[in-house]
Amino acid sequence: MIDRFGRDINYLRLSITDRCNLRCKYCMPDGCDMARHEDILSYEEFLRVARLAAALGVEHVRVTGGEPLVRRGAVEFVRALKAVPGVKKVSMTTNGTLLAKYGEALAAAGLDSVNISLDAADEDLERRICGSGGVVDAVRASLELMRSLGVPVKLNAVLLEETAGAAAGLARFAAGGVPVRFIELMPMGVGRFERGCDPDAVLAGLKRIWPDLHPVDARIGSGPARYYASDALAAPIGFIDAVSHRFCSGCNRVRLTSRGFLKPCLCYDEGADLRALLRSGASDADILDAMRICIFNKPRQHCFDTPQDMTESRLMSQIGG
Ligand code: SAM
Ligand code: SF4
Repeated sequence: MIDRFGRDINYLRLSITDRCNLRCKYCMPDGCDMARHEDILSYEEFLRVARLAAALGVEHVRVTGGEPLVRRGAVEFVRALKAVPGVKKVSMTTNGTLLAKYGEALAAAGLDSVNISLDAADEDLERRICGSGGVVDAVRASLELMRSLGVPVKLNAVLLEETAGAAAGLARFAAGGVPVRFIELMPMGVGRFERGCDPDAVLAGLKRIWPDLHPVDARIGSGPARYYASDALAAPIGFIDAVSHRFCSGCNRVRLTSRGFLKPCLCYDEGADLRALLRSGASDADILDAMRICIFNKPRQHCFDTPQDMTESRLMSQIGG
């Protein structure tokens, strides 16, 4: 549906759990609060919202978390989403560590694409960031598995001060044909206590290695990445720098938190408590009304540059990234 600023909102992200098997320092380090299981939406509740969202024009649903693959039944959930009338694409964002176990079943369930998050290709550095060992090898194997199954894969890396020097190592995945996107650190949740790094400085560093890196008009997926290509790389490199380069005028997404709160913008604790409606016997028409009002009133833009205006205090693991 079209919001009050004329944007076509056709992309819904579902955080199906706030739990995770990793502890990325900018997202969900040790000691973060987790919801009680009964406070997290059931798959039936998520599916009901997805069906209603599709009736409002949502065509792409992304399953995220926390780590979506730690929730039992995630594969069946993907299959059920694929059957929702109007939903044309179902994708997933995952840390990749459980794809060896579930990748084949996800492909069979019809998963259209997968984004795998990896912040450094260097094992020691990655361990310091995500709190676990073996992640780089697991992601490498997952990438190969998903590609062999015909599921398109992209790699996402959050830019931290300490990973700036490791960007080239990740960018080399593009030489093997996997688009790599560098995500600017957002001051969300515990991320606000971390130091990010300047995406333009990272790009400049990559240009010293691949001098022919040049902007290309690639559009891969539903995101707002700016892409650069080099003859030496089989896939483009992207930058999702929402903080320093505002993409809000083209934003097409809304998010449903693991506790069922529909969020039209990352920065603000504004939205619709769909869980309260779902659990109080509300009709589809009532829930649709709440969703319509929430989407129509999507804020014009984020306020990362004036953090004092941010009203959101949820963790990214609850929101889904
Ligand atoms: N566990 C899955 C994963 O890591 O891909 C899905 C959930 S995770 C919250 C989704 C994405 O959000 C990941 O790519 C993660 O790196 C990113 N993310 C988490 N906190 C962030 C922050 N403060 N700024 C920017 N991206 C963040
Ligand atoms: Fe887990 Fe993903 Fe957050 Fe890392 S970014 S702690 S993998 S939810």
